[in-house]
Amino acid sequence: MPEKTAPMMSLNGRVVPYDQCLVHGFSGAVKYGAAVFEGLRGYWNEERQDLYVFRLADHLARLRFGMRVMRLEPAFEAAFLEEALMAMIRANGLRETVHLRMIAFLDGDDELAATGPVGLVCGAVPRPRSKAVEEGVHVAVSTYARIADNAMPPRVKATGNYINNRAAELEARRNGYGGVLILTAAGKVSEGSGACFFMVRNGALHTPDTASDILESITRDTVITLAREAGIAVHERAIDRHEVYAAEEAFWCGTGYEIQPILSLDRVAIGAGVPGPLTRALQRAYFDVVEGRSEAHPDWRSPVWGNAGRRAA
Ligand code: PMP
Repeated sequence: MPEKTAPMMSLNGRVVPYDQCLVHGFSGAVKYGAAVFEGLRGYWNEERQDLYVFRLADHLARLRFGMRVMRLEPAFEAAFLEEALMAMIRANGLRETVHLRMIAFLDGDDELAATGPVGLVCGAVPRPRSKAVEEGVHVAVSTYARIADNAMPPRVKATGNYINNRAAELEARRNGYGGVLILTAAGKVSEGSGACFFMVRNGALHTPDTASDILESITRDTVITLAREAGIAVHERAIDRHEVYAAEEAFWCGTGYEIQPILSLDRVAIGAGVPGPLTRALQRAYFDVVEGRSEAHPDWRSPVWGNAGRRAA
């Protein structure tokens, strides 16, 4: 079943009902896949009665960078994007953990080289933690190669890129796996269809570097930061497929995925084939920060409701 989008959305900075959030069928976004998007999360903190949007400024910066890479007109300042998103959240009165989506897209009905007009859509989908965070996932290496940086821009969330991710994900599901790991055209580990890959070897974390045709993931950066703060060494480097078979633990991470243990690759168990202790420790540190139970990194959490959200005692 598709998830249920919250009833109010935002179109070009205006709050509109879901049914009125419409784009023309001949827009550049539909004709050419000319759009960039962001997936963000808002975390509900029951004790503080507030919703925290995680790393909002970083997501907006990546969206604007993506628009530059796609050569879309720089139609939106960060402040406009933030207000569009926050107004939509407030219009829905959201008081639960949600996945938030923003799409900047080529509107109008022009030709391939058009760069505007540019439209903006924002919406929210209530989404609690997935079962895979607790249970882990069995993963296959894809027969599809990851898009290469000299063909498409993997480091930004260009909508058209996801033809690659979707093909890989569908293949893995057809074959009975819970997810897919995609290799670069050179055969090195790149990333999942919506998450960045980490493994543990000799107690240290290893993750493909940003030249491995990965998205410059905000969760990846969060995990690297939290790990280093905990005294865990992190190495960003090229990783071979068969080195993953030798890992003690593996997981992948992303805004939507959060941190999910990888139990096996190509049906070869990773370590003991169960979520490992370092993965569990990083999950705890991650959820403490995103949900606002930890005071660390306050600049990563943008409160939606502030004091206005506190219920009268
Ligand atoms: N890789 C891909 C291909 C993704 O779509 C995502 C999800 N945005 C990620 C990695 C994780 O990125 P982030 O941590 O910024 O959500």
